[in-house]
Amino acid sequence: MAKQLKPETLCVQAGWTPKKGEPRVLPIYQSTTFKYDTSEQMARLFDLEDSGYFYTRLQNPTNDAVAAKIAALEGGVAAMLTSSGQAANFYAIFNICQAGDHFVCSSAIYGGTFNLFGVTMKKLGIEVTFVSPDASEEELSAAFRPNTKALFGETISNPSLEVLDIEKFARVAHSHGVPLILDNTFPTPINCRPFEWGADIVVHSTTKYMDGHATSVGGCIVDSGNFDWDAYADKYPGLCTPDESYHGLTYTKAFGKGAYITKATAQLMRDLGSIPSPQNSFLLNLGLETLHLRMPQHCRNAQQIAEYLLKNEKVAWVNYCGLPDNKYYALAQKYMPNGSCGVISFGLKGGRDVSIKFMDALEIIAIVTHVADARSCVLHPASHTHRQMSDEQLLEAGVRPDLIRMSVGIENADDLIADIEQALNA
Ligand code: PLP
Repeated sequence: MAKQLKPETLCVQAGWTPKKGEPRVLPIYQSTTFKYDTSEQMARLFDLEDSGYFYTRLQNPTNDAVAAKIAALEGGVAAMLTSSGQAANFYAIFNICQAGDHFVCSSAIYGGTFNLFGVTMKKLGIEVTFVSPDASEEELSAAFRPNTKALFGETISNPSLEVLDIEKFARVAHSHGVPLILDNTFPTPINCRPFEWGADIVVHSTTKYMDGHATSVGGCIVDSGNFDWDAYADKYPGLCTPDESYHGLTYTKAFGKGAYITKATAQLMRDLGSIPSPQNSFLLNLGLETLHLRMPQHCRNAQQIAEYLLKNEKVAWVNYCGLPDNKYYALAQKYMPNGSCGVISFGLKGGRDVSIKFMDALEIIAIVTHVADARSCVLHPASHTHRQMSDEQLLEAGVRPDLIRMSVGIENADDLIADIEQALNA
């Protein structure tokens, strides 16, 4: 599908263009395997000499159509779906890092990613250095080592809601000859397209706004095709030298701008196998068809609620980058002029215990371990998602102990405010 189409059209139509007599709606290819007429035809697929489907762990038409839609929305050249956002983040790094390598990462990231990078990947011999998203270019540069292979951050961090200065991070990454990988889950490509600001690879937990209805856990990696791996061939032997597990094929030579995603699919997915089910990809696609309608409503509602909370005397503090006095307001206006996301964080006077009582009194807004759903919900990260982190790590990740994360849905804002008010008075 042509790239110049607008996001609204891409949300509805990209990825699946039926030919004569084919289903109008993306079909669910719920099949593990695909039939061929000759052994030779199948052999050519295994050698990556022909493209075609043979086993769903490697590729499936439903999954590929949805990946293509997300690639089109981000303005990338190729994408791969994964079974979760965690898998997407793991593969995005593991595709270019091996034991003995290092990467630099903003400390303001989702707790699960912080643990994956800081604890689990360390066990695989891959080290990370966390840096403040507000670090100067000199401070960021100081974290790089000769074996550093990537710089990673979240466009808007979960749950601390810090807005990354994408151009600054891209400049530093490129000055060290490494790609900038951004988790763009919270703004989605409707509100921010990081490739336009210099990011090289984008990852998503599609579980969030992209699905939007809390039906399917999933993830996605999108490659801009802009990073020149061959210019730093010594750093990226996995992409730039022959892969013995694939008959000596060199990904950059064989696939050009598609090298990174082809390697992730043909090697990592082949070996580690975290694919989404085609059924889940079908549901994700339904979500994507209305992403452009839902995001503005999430943002409008969140703005209204943030402004209400700011004026309420029972509220100690409010963090939302759409508020003019917010530390990240200017960055949000620059990178996301049409709105950021529907997630707000705040604390109540009286601290942690009062915050928990308030949450228990809510009626429409539910306590769930989720965010970025059509239905409004709340969570107390220090007791829930981030409970494995020490107080020091919590503060490093920008999470205050009294922080309530409210994911504002697409209901009527007045109804949500009435619910908040009755819970504050309870
Ligand atoms: N990235 C971000 C920004 C997230 O908020 C999350 C989950 O909350 C993840 C990644 C992990 O995604 P998943 O829960 O789909 O594995």
